[in-house]
Amino acid sequence: MDEQAQRHSLWVATTPDFPEYPPLNGDAAADVLVIGGGMTGLQTAYLLKLAGLSVILVERHRLARGTSGHTTAKVTALHGLTYDHLTRTFGREAAQVYAAANVAALDDIVGIVRRETIGCGLERSAACTYATTDDERARVEREVRAAQEAGLTVEFRDDLPLPYETLGGAWLEGQASLHPVRYLKALAELVHGGGCRVHEMTTALDLDEAAALVRTDRGVIRAQHVVVATHVPIFDHGPLSMRLMARRSYVVAAPLPDPLAGMYISASGNHRSVRTQEIDGQQWTITNGEPHRTGEGGDERERYLRIRGWTDDRFVLGQRYYDWATQDVFTVDDLPFIGRYRKEDARVLIATGFKGWGMAHSMVAARIISDAVQRKDNDWAGLYDPWDRSFTKGAGALFSQAAESIKALVIDKLISGDPACTHMGCTTKWNEAERSWDCPCHGSRFDEHGEVLNGPAIRALKSPPAAGG
Ligand SMILES: Cc1cc2nc3c(=O)[nH]c(=O)nc-3n(C[C@H](O)[C@H](O)[C@H](O)COP(=O)(O)OP(=O)(O)OC[C@H]3O[C@@H](n4cnc5c(N)ncnc54)[C@H](O)[C@@H]3O)c2cc1C
Repeated sequence: MDEQAQRHSLWVATTPDFPEYPPLNGDAAADVLVIGGGMTGLQTAYLLKLAGLSVILVERHRLARGTSGHTTAKVTALHGLTYDHLTRTFGREAAQVYAAANVAALDDIVGIVRRETIGCGLERSAACTYATTDDERARVEREVRAAQEAGLTVEFRDDLPLPYETLGGAWLEGQASLHPVRYLKALAELVHGGGCRVHEMTTALDLDEAAALVRTDRGVIRAQHVVVATHVPIFDHGPLSMRLMARRSYVVAAPLPDPLAGMYISASGNHRSVRTQEIDGQQWTITNGEPHRTGEGGDERERYLRIRGWTDDRFVLGQRYYDWATQDVFTVDDLPFIGRYRKEDARVLIATGFKGWGMAHSMVAARIISDAVQRKDNDWAGLYDPWDRSFTKGAGALFSQAAESIKALVIDKLISGDPACTHMGCTTKWNEAERSWDCPCHGSRFDEHGEVLNGPAIRALKSPPAAGG
């Protein structure tokens, strides 16, 4: 086969029959409005519909084309080096709640796939965080101890079934992987109809918090509850945004003759993730790495080359492949925000900050939000509530987030003529690899014509310079 790069997602490319849903056509009302058609929005809408509520879901572009359509889609409760950090920062009980929530979410997703007979290539396999240096090995060993104390049946394994050398890793059996776009396609079909509606090409523009009313570009929607499942808190310009940042990383998918046993991520700073997926009889390897703060990647083309080179060296022999970049959101204390959008009011709910582990966490969010809407108790809600935690937990990251924002708001503005982000006015940076304007403050991105690619920005750039200035 000729060597050929397809600069888009394997998942989107292998789901050509994703139906289109009509835009909203005038004003509407429902029990719940869900904004955003990724893992968080569609799973939340699905649970709310099952509970007998009427739901309208609106999506700015097409469904499942955000981070959920570009992820590596490991559904697991083992999240790199998370449990040691959680135990040290929030205590053992918090780590136990986190583990229980993610294990239950994994079971929920597997249960939905089986109950609804969704053809999304669900496979059960082990998840592994591996080491390649002595320092990483020490950190992985600490992670194993903390994860065990949190209740996971993790073990340290020296002999990993990888085709390259490692110093062993944390190993958790019974996790899962799937084709995320085929999973979300099926969920959308289950949500749409029977008193519930899905609308694509419909952008939420403004939120009236007091009235739980959202103005879109296609009409006004009134609801008892609004779920902001837009990956980032699009209507927020302060208390949530100041505690969030976005990080991009790079994915390569290429044919591989045999599947790998297990799903892997390295403990290194330039993280290297790998797993395989069978799609319509073809085995694919999916690798990922080279993370950086959005807007701060240097020459992003180099990052594509590095992850491609790493993949070629270990797995692939110059065959047709896909590569793409995408981004996830991180909170300053590394614990997602799930729950009340504002401290005083539980009618508007939010889920964000999944820090690269949003497959299981989006289902944790769907459960917490669906319980909040139905006024049911939820054992995990306290841990994730954005307002029920001390700012001191992530003080260092909060400080560097503030410094980055001041730099992009004041200093970069003085020395560069690059366009100002329409979210909070930070100076964007040109990304030649994606031909986009990327904002380092909160991760908004705009195409070369100024149209929004990633929030929190809602509105297009005003007259961007021609193709990268
Ligand atoms: C490279 C990479 C690999 C990853 N791999 C894994 C993994 O293996 N396992 C794992 O657990 N997690 C992984 N993650 C994280 C995970 O994929 C994400 O956390 C998750 O997909 C986020 O889902 P979401 O629904 O919150 O956001 P999205 O999927 O981004 O959905 C948000 C939607 O909201 C829409 N929207 C935005 N603004 C508006 C508006 N104004 N009006 C209407 N709609 C709007 C967007 O268009 C988008 O469709 C990875 C992340 C990255 C970056």
